[in-house]
Amino acid sequence: MRMAMGMEVLQNQGRKSGKHQKASPEGWPALGRLLPLALIAIILLGIGPARQALAWGRMGHRASTRLAETRLTPKARALIRELLEPGESLADASTWADENSQSIPGSAAWHYVNVPISAASYSPRDCHDNCVVSRFEEFRRILADPHAPKPRRRMALRYVVHLVEDAHQPMHVGDRRDRGGNNLQLQFFGDDYTNLHQVWDSGLLRNGYCNERELVDDLIDLARKPEARDWTRGHIEDWVNESLEAARQAYRIPGSKDLLRSGMRIGREYEDANLPLAVKRLSQAGMRLSEVLNDCLSPEGKRAIPAPHFRKEQQPAPSAAPQASGIR
Ligand SMILES: [Zn+2]
Repeated sequence: MRMAMGMEVLQNQGRKSGKHQKASPEGWPALGRLLPLALIAIILLGIGPARQALAWGRMGHRASTRLAETRLTPKARALIRELLEPGESLADASTWADENSQSIPGSAAWHYVNVPISAASYSPRDCHDNCVVSRFEEFRRILADPHAPKPRRRMALRYVVHLVEDAHQPMHVGDRRDRGGNNLQLQFFGDDYTNLHQVWDSGLLRNGYCNERELVDDLIDLARKPEARDWTRGHIEDWVNESLEAARQAYRIPGSKDLLRSGMRIGREYEDANLPLAVKRLSQAGMRLSEVLNDCLSPEGKRAIPAPHFRKEQQPAPSAAPQASGIR
């Protein structure tokens, strides 16, 4: 929606430029017409292909982290408060790695792993020892080390939170030789200049939710369902394999076996087919993040919090578990 408004502003700029065109000197009518168009082209090029993929965007990262926070042990919670900067919440920490990626040369590769969507599963060969899988393990070890210097553990905490969530973004794993959908240009609702990666980072969520609170509520609702009981099992290799499976769906035209092609327009049908999957991935990420943090920061007290950790009236009814849908 915000993107649609942005386009409106650009179109209005175009209309305003039209007025200037009439006022241009007699001898320069062509230049008068071309200048506003050239300016618009420069603006579009500037915010188009060069836009950096931010992974889940701010709303997705923060909401997933806030679900994780509801399941932390008191000890893990206290240690996190101690490790982070004064006034920095865990949700703030979740986007630190994206906000500071420019200042850490080479760190962009830590956020994803390119696995061809035709591959059966993730292989360590895809990682080259420098991807979301290996970096997550590295930062997790630092975070769990009580003897590591505090600034190092703080950095590790920010990365652990962020990378668990990035590993759950299907376009941070599945790839069609298009940089995880970054090169697959699409039109999504009113946004004529986006790509599949951005649709998954933020387009779907921005369209589906007015604010972070609404999304957090849905992530919590999902985490309460019986099917979520098994979500905390597995390791990062399993999570990226789920993302790979999800990416196969993300690349597909809804209701068809055909794959999306550059230049296509997608909208309601794509959102209906994929927004629930995006929400599920964020809920899974939040559940697993809480496990990882409890494990690193309070291994001996990990069992103190029942899973899922919600108010009594929110406990799922002891009915038969429904069939898990979507990804495996
Ligand atoms: Zn990222």
